[in-house]
This record gives sequence, C-alpha cells and structure tokens, in this order.
Amino acid sequence: MKSFLVDQNGYYGEFGGAYVPEILHKCVEDLKNTYLDVLESAEFKKEFDQLLRDYVGRPSPLYPARRLSDKYGCKLYLKREDLNHTGAHKINNTIGQILLARHMGKKRIIAETGAGQHGVATATVCALMNMECIVYMGKTDVERQHINVEKMKMLGATVIPVTSGNMTLKDATNEAIRDWCCHPSDTYYIIGSTVGPHPYPDMVARLQSVISEEIKKQLQEKEGRDYPDYLIACVGGGSNAAGTIYHFINDERINIVLAEAGGKGIETGMTAATIQLGKMGIIHGSRTYVIQDEDGQIEEPYSISAGLDYPGIGPIHANLAAQKRATVLAVNDDEAIEAAYELTKLEGIIPALESAHALGALKKLKFKPEDVVVLTVSGRGDKDVETYLAFND
Ligand SMILES: *Cc1c(COP(=O)(O)O)cnc(C)c1O
Repeated sequence: MKSFLVDQNGYYGEFGGAYVPEILHKCVEDLKNTYLDVLESAEFKKEFDQLLRDYVGRPSPLYPARRLSDKYGCKLYLKREDLNHTGAHKINNTIGQILLARHMGKKRIIAETGAGQHGVATATVCALMNMECIVYMGKTDVERQHINVEKMKMLGATVIPVTSGNMTLKDATNEAIRDWCCHPSDTYYIIGSTVGPHPYPDMVARLQSVISEEIKKQLQEKEGRDYPDYLIACVGGGSNAAGTIYHFINDERINIVLAEAGGKGIETGMTAATIQLGKMGIIHGSRTYVIQDEDGQIEEPYSISAGLDYPGIGPIHANLAAQKRATVLAVNDDEAIEAAYELTKLEGIIPALESAHALGALKKLKFKPEDVVVLTVSGRGDKDVETYLAFND
C-alpha cells in the first residue's frame, strides 16, 4: 500500500530530505538517530502525556458546531486547539522537543519566530524546564508583534531582532541556522512547524499527532465511527494540519482539505499560496515547493495572517498535493476575515486569523447532510482583534 508518511531516507515522495551545511551534519544525524527511540520510550510518553494533560489542558474538545453545521449542510465539528495553554497548537510540539533536548543533554535552546507564536511557545517551555532560550525574530516582526515580544521577555527569553533581508521569518530562520552552526554541540534548535531538514517534519508531525489521536476517540464517542468524511486545516508550514491528519493520512475514505493563504489573490503577487504557485526548490534544509523568482531567489510571501506568511511548505503537504491525496484551496484575506466574523457571530468563538483560513474553505466545498466534517481551529483570535476591526472599518 502507498504510504504518505516519511520513508527510510527522510523523504515524502520527492520532497523532504536533509540539505544542511557540513558543520550541522552531525547534529542532524544525532537527532535522526535519537528522536524515534526517545519519542517511543515509555518514560518520554509518560511525561509528555502528563504535561499535555495537566499543563496544556488536553484533550482539547471536539465541539459540534450546530449553527455552523446548519449553515453548511453537514455535521461540522471543531477541534479546539485554541483552548490550549498559550492559545494554539504550537505548545504540543515545543513540549515534546524540550523533553527531547533535555534527554540529549542540550543546555541552550534556540528558535525562530515570525508572528511570535512559536517564540512564545518555546519561551514558555524553557521557563518550565529552566533552560536558556534565544529567539530570532525579524526586526519588522518585532515591531509588528510587540505583545509577543514582551511575553517572551517576561518568560525569560532573549529576543534577537534580525536585520538582514526583509527582516521577517525567513531571515530569522537563516539567523537561527547560523547560530546553530556556531554552537552545534550544546544547542538544540526547536523548529516550530513541519519544515526544516529531516527528521524535523516527521518529528513535529508525530508530536502534533495527538490531535488526530484525540479526534479518532472523540468521533467514536460522538458518531459511533472513528473517522470523518472530511478533515480541514490551514497550512503555514503545516504542523496543525499534519497533526490533524496524521492517523488518517493513509485512509483514502477521508477527504483532506488544506487551506493556504491566498493573500490578496494568487494572481496579484501578494500571496503566500505556496502549493499553487511554488516551484521545486530547497528552503531551510528541505526539498519542497518554494515561492521563488526566475533566478531561484526566494520571494517575500504576503498574507494578512503572520502565521501563514511563509515562502515554503512542509514536504509532507507538498507530497499530498503532488499525489492529489489532498485538496489544496487558497483562501484570500477577505474570505478569511469574513469566515472569522461568521464563526464569532454563529458560535461565539473568535478564531486566530490562521484558523480563519480553514473556516474560509467551507464556502468552497459541497457537502452532503450526513457528511462528518472535522475542522481544526488552530488558535484563538485574541492576538488578531485589531486586524479584524481594522479590516471592517
Ligand atoms: C503558527 C500558526 C499556524 C501555522 O503553522 P502550521 O505549522 O502550519 O500549523 C496556524 N495557526 C496558528 C494559530 C498558528 O499560531
């Protein structure tokens, strides 16, 4: 049977792999040779599960959204990652990776962040585990995402504003990789999505797979069957989507729908719709679709949602799209905003702008009344209220 999970060499079809500078080769090899043994050990599982339960607040509810179901003519459930500690799914991953870092005897944690959500989730677990934390963040983002910078500082992290390039996420990532090259022996790099060199995409997907594990159990209780007809999630790098689909990925009864950020429209040039517009390239150590110009230079993506504003895409999702296992829809800024207002008015839930892109996909799909649809609300909208209000002025 065809598998959409990672192969022996760290590839998903022709996507993935580990393209890293020589100096990091050993770090990545060490990680590759360690992560599975640790993640599958009883000791790790016990501590990870306990923290997910008592610290993060899992399991997150699978909420039957009645009014939204009526509107779209299906049985719609929302997987509520917005209710997690720190407000999104990112904490599932950072908890797992900090436990792994500790196991590997690393003392210093580095991370990159765009909007600051992954930075906050990393600073949070570093406070929890009493580890040094350095977060690289583009200077433009430091200015745009002031509150998250203050939170990281309060949590004890050092935030380093990056002034190279466009001073955004891709530049922050380059700087984090540079740091890792300088401190390969004592430093652990916590990557925030299913991107980067193998084994990161697989590791992050496994750590987020608690989402689909819970969906299975919760659907069994609520629907008497352990799979939905549709799974819908937004994709930036792809971690909440990977977690949502992980245990269903090889089961072709289930339709997978991925929503990427269309920005102002995929034909406008102001977009982050990597799967629709990207060409094969290498970004941050992985072979995948990249938004690039004719010379292969990475182009600055655009989306109203900082968390989806990434010029690459995880190799898992690039492969799902290439194999036509997933339907990929570009949801534009205005469609996402409208969907966020709709969820707020119909269900009393203000979603993160990223999650609003998943909600925006509902209008583009045709359901049967008996279809069971699970949509992941990856985060809460507190950080986006100003953007929502500004857009409707
Ligand atoms: C970071 C973020 C995303 C995008 O990241 P993925 O790795 O694609 O999940 C989506 N939603 C929220 C709330 C985020 O913070």
